[in-house]
Amino acid sequence: MPLSASSGRSCSTCNYCCIYLEIESKPGYSTRFDNGEDIAKPANQACAFLGEQGCTIYGVRPLVCRQFRCDWLNGVKGFGPEDSPIQSGVLGVRGSNWIISVGASIPLMEPDPDVDPEPKSA
Ligand code: SF4
Ligand code: SF4
Repeated sequence: MPLSASSGRSCSTCNYCCIYLEIESKPGYSTRFDNGEDIAKPANQACAFLGEQGCTIYGVRPLVCRQFRCDWLNGVKGFGPEDSPIQSGVLGVRGSNWIISVGASIPLMEPDPDVDPEPKSA
């Protein structure tokens, strides 16, 4: 997901949207690569391309990942500087607030050894 937005905020080490959100293809928001592989997944399940250091395919991630920004990243009213998902446990998605248990622990998938990792870091 994006490193920064017009709000000046950065995802940094957060990857909550890669875990907690359902990802599905919609017109204009493809979840597929050119080879047809699909990253679509249900909510509360880590994306298969999420490694311990972040997205393992960051440079070639699908369009939906390039376009998505949570409400905090967008600087939506009500989401102050200290209200990032990783700090507050709240993931805002265009008006809907997903309350996340801060203690929630979902095992991350091992990075695909065939994919050159590009850690998501500032
Ligand atoms: S939940 Fe928000 S801050 Fe966290 S990685 Fe996704 S877009 Fe970035
Ligand atoms: S492909 Fe990368 S950015 Fe997209 S959901 Fe999976 S881990 Fe996150």
